[in-house]
Amino acid sequence: MSYNNKVAIVFTGGTISMKIDPRIHAAIPALTSEEIMAMVTNIEKFSDIEIINFSNLPSPHITPNMMMELSILVNDIIKRDDITGVVITHGTDTLEETAYLLDLTVKSPKPIIVVGAMRNNSVLGYDGSSNLSAAICTAISKNAVNKGVLVVMNNEVNAASEVTKTNTLSLDTFKSPEFGPLGIVDNDEVLFYRDIVKRQFIETHTIENKVSLIKCCAGMESDIVNFYIDTGYKGIVIEALGRGNIPPAMIPGVKRAIDKGIPVVMVSRCPTGRVLDTYGYEGGGRHLRELGVIFGKNLPGQKARIKLMLILSLTKDIDIIKNMFEN
Ligand code: ASP
Repeated sequence: MSYNNKVAIVFTGGTISMKIDPRIHAAIPALTSEEIMAMVTNIEKFSDIEIINFSNLPSPHITPNMMMELSILVNDIIKRDDITGVVITHGTDTLEETAYLLDLTVKSPKPIIVVGAMRNNSVLGYDGSSNLSAAICTAISKNAVNKGVLVVMNNEVNAASEVTKTNTLSLDTFKSPEFGPLGIVDNDEVLFYRDIVKRQFIETHTIENKVSLIKCCAGMESDIVNFYIDTGYKGIVIEALGRGNIPPAMIPGVKRAIDKGIPVVMVSRCPTGRVLDTYGYEGGGRHLRELGVIFGKNLPGQKARIKLMLILSLTKDIDIIKNMFEN
């Protein structure tokens, strides 16, 4: 009995599909999607399942181009009348980037859930099956309609736009450090405690790959910025210091990029808080604003990069790019 639900599960790989290889004593992709689903016992009581094999890759092997391919696939699946929601299994390392790209590029009220596992199938306490069943419960939940792409791990529901991997090992690694989770999965039921105020949609099927991410540190100079300009990068994201400030020796590089029409988006290397032009000294936020640096609010660098890659596939107009980041 399936209560007329049908969830498409798109398998991409990650620890959820890994086992320890006895020859090298390290985890590698090993399980098929059917083998993973066989561990999600009793799920037929909740929903019919359609398995779609996209890849079986560790997530450090997933490129932005593959994320875009996945977006096109999910856009096609979610339009089908027989589909209640879509679940995507993914390695946890780049899960937040894929989830955010899908959030920005798939427009549907139906639930889209990204899920993974922290423990592979050879170790005690494999969390793949419990995470996957919680993800399927979320995909069929009326409460999850119109919430954008969600990440479900360890019985917590987080927004793709807010979630980040915070710990290299813990089962509760996926957190929204700034605002907390949207809800929880409790006893197969999905409960939401808050909503996201604003969602963005970028209508594109392509991505600009030449966008770099620079993490700022004390004493940094312009050489790395110049390297990206000279090697043809089309956009630069800087994870700046604190409130949104950079060392003065980086300014010539930033100025040169902007003069060449390369958008420079600034976010902070702090895990929480937005960037703002609070400081007026050389390299401070006010100086950067005057130079034409775009302020990326409270996005982490890796998500600001995904967003800039998508926007640059549509336009090079600095005012439009600025508007999409700042408003
Ligand atoms: N390294 C793995 C991956 O991202 C980690 C995981 O899936 O949890 O594929």
